[in-house]
Amino acid sequence: MKVIAIGRNYAAHIAELQNERPSKPVVFLKPETAILKPGMPFYHPDFSNDIHHEIELVLKVCKPGKYLEKKFAHRYFEEIGLGIDFTARDLQKECKEKGLPWEIAKGFNGSAPIGDFMPVSEIGDLDNIDFHLTVNGETRQKGNTSHLLFDFGTIIEYVSQFFLLKKGDLIFTGTPAGVGPVKIGDHLEGFIGDKKMLDLEVK
Ligand code: MG
Repeated sequence: MKVIAIGRNYAAHIAELQNERPSKPVVFLKPETAILKPGMPFYHPDFSNDIHHEIELVLKVCKPGKYLEKKFAHRYFEEIGLGIDFTARDLQKECKEKGLPWEIAKGFNGSAPIGDFMPVSEIGDLDNIDFHLTVNGETRQKGNTSHLLFDFGTIIEYVSQFFLLKKGDLIFTGTPAGVGPVKIGDHLEGFIGDKKMLDLEVK
């Protein structure tokens, strides 16, 4: 399985990192070894002093497909959850400055913790999903899918041209504003609406 992730998909987050607003989705991959299943702790790596949390809605692919049209994209995911796109911001900055690929800053071991998933049918309007992240009980990031630059259908149409989607693949759909560093001892909790979907300790 693979993790497909979208960067720069919420305007306020693009602004906080002083990035350019993209005309097409910004896509990167994380390897399977990046995934942390629910309940597993995140061990802060030594190679970075600036690991940022990025809370993101995650689509779980339910059947294979490529060259998918936007209007049929909803048939390819039945569950939505939350994940954290951990990013070694210091390494990413170095890579960006040199025009190099980002993988080490985005795809390192444990950089993609996921929480529980809920059926799409329980969610209702996919263009109006509220989600947020708390760190040690304090709200740090809040998002709503009405603010996505590229909605779920557009993401799936775009990425499925390049990558055959397979059952079990995960699509991280981008983070809202409020990203920031985590430290050992932090307790991260993610919510869709009022429902807690993700619980993670940083060790
Ligand atoms: Mg991200």
